[in-house]
Amino acid sequence: MMTWFDRWVALHRTVVRSTWLRRDVRDGALLLAIAGIAYALAHFFDLPRRIFALALAYRKWEMDDLLFVGMVLSVAGPAYGIRRYKDFSREMKGRLRAEREARMLSGHDHLTGLPNERFFAERLDEGLGAMADGDRAATLVVVIEGFKRVVDLHGHVVGDKVLIDFAGRMAALLREGVILARTGGDAFAIAMPKIDSLDEPAGLAHRIVVAMSQAFSINDTAVNVGVSIGIAIAPNDGVTSTTLIQRAERALYRAKTEDRSSIRFFESEMDAHIERRILMEGRLRKAVERDSIVPHYQPLVSLDDNRIVGFEALARWNDDMLGDVPPDIFIPLSEEIGLIGILGDQVFRRACADTRDWPGDLFMAFNVSAVQLRDPELAPRILAVLEEYAFSPPRLEIEITESALVDHVDDARFAMEHLRGHGVHIVIDDFGTGYATLAQLLSFPLDKIKIDRRFVTNVVNDHDSLVVVRAIVGLANGFGLTSTAEGIEDAEQLSCLKRNGCAQGQGYWFGQAVPAADIAALLAKSSTRQASRHRAGGLKGGAGNVMEFP
Ligand code: C2E
Ligand code: CA
Ligand code: CA
Repeated sequence: MMTWFDRWVALHRTVVRSTWLRRDVRDGALLLAIAGIAYALAHFFDLPRRIFALALAYRKWEMDDLLFVGMVLSVAGPAYGIRRYKDFSREMKGRLRAEREARMLSGHDHLTGLPNERFFAERLDEGLGAMADGDRAATLVVVIEGFKRVVDLHGHVVGDKVLIDFAGRMAALLREGVILARTGGDAFAIAMPKIDSLDEPAGLAHRIVVAMSQAFSINDTAVNVGVSIGIAIAPNDGVTSTTLIQRAERALYRAKTEDRSSIRFFESEMDAHIERRILMEGRLRKAVERDSIVPHYQPLVSLDDNRIVGFEALARWNDDMLGDVPPDIFIPLSEEIGLIGILGDQVFRRACADTRDWPGDLFMAFNVSAVQLRDPELAPRILAVLEEYAFSPPRLEIEITESALVDHVDDARFAMEHLRGHGVHIVIDDFGTGYATLAQLLSFPLDKIKIDRRFVTNVVNDHDSLVVVRAIVGLANGFGLTSTAEGIEDAEQLSCLKRNGCAQGQGYWFGQAVPAADIAALLAKSSTRQASRHRAGGLKGGAGNVMEFP
């Protein structure tokens, strides 16, 4: 507990630390010294008698002293007051300057000099508050596409210059009264008060896209970036800065995911879309936590003899709330939120466990995405699981899409060479869609090419697709690779592919992906059909989703 003495010491310390009081004590001491000196001088020159004639009348030594002190104080007092006033006004000016600087710092982005997010929101709210009935205002959020790549490639100094030039180009396009702000690393926002029509923000967005399509010339380096823009309109989409910015961001999110356009206006269904995505993200995290995403298996068939030669493991997620979510949705989502590593491992482990019940000559094909390839531990982990389940590496086929190969050449090559070194087979998936060069194709350690479904779907009716299919089969044969056609849905497609020398096939014609538990029955059915076909010398296709081989 604090005693009165502690309090006194604390108070004393505070008082002594205060600038004003320190200055007062100093001034007091100075004043006393001056008074002392003046007093001594006065006595030395016998001044009391001459100067203080009035005081002499009293003939009282003590009174002289008092009068003298009073005179000194009457001079020192105003001097002290003036000095204090000057101190005070200097201090006030300093405070005002500091406040102004602080406001400047908190309201502006130091790199571009543009208003920052807070300042922007305040001005936007002011503008929205002043809107009359029938007025409309627009908010645009603008993001530089590919900025991270610029920084990775050229460094932060060039990145900063791009930001400054980008801001400058944008500022040059704005009419008076429009506010431009930098709201994040590569993000900007624009407030357009009082627009006459939606053409105004759309036109500005378009001009921004055009202006940014010209390369930035920084230190003799031509730097190219893209731009995505989301637009929200007040009062329809919101009447506060928070709602408007949020909705413009939702429109931006959509603009970024659609490549046909990089400008999007907010639409009310986007809210539902985002809410569903947030829900799905949560449910996906739960599903991974519970290890409830399982592989189903789609047969791969040898076109020579209609025999099932293997199965492709395809991840399936059935959620209590969302129902069946297709892998085309949840695989990219799991990549975005950093779950693909764990998810891929879980599904692969389950698939390896399931293969224990399979005949020993069947292979298992497993998909690996571009994001998974970036993990240098992927190949060692796959090999460790194979060992754990005693699944022989040559019975595993790893499917990598052509686009993942082309976009991540080095990561892909590293993982492929590691796996292939241990006997795992490598398949290039969705071939014909990713623009791999022949040189790239030759440089990868490949075993199989899977012709993309779109060519197979059109192979009968579209001459170009037939030419592509023939070329891919020829390429595979030429390099000693196996060719597989995916997405075979009818007899005509199948016979066309057979005629053109494709080795293996996959598709609804043979069967959709089935749960592990159905594989035994599927295989039994297949061998029965096989036997009866041999007996009957052929078999006609029928209904159902499994094994209707012609
Ligand atoms: P994919 O590797 O190209 O898989 C083939 C897709 O085509 C599968 O879709 C399959 O169900 C579908 N399909 C097969 N035959 C036919 C047919 O005759 N007609 C039509 N219209 N479609 C057919 P699914 O299962 O929806 O998988 C979609 C994609 O998701 C897969 O494309 C694959 O890229 C990815 N995927 C699935 N499972 C995994 C996984 O465990 N890991 C990773 N990384 N990706 C996976
Ligand atoms: Ca595949
Ligand atoms: Ca495919």
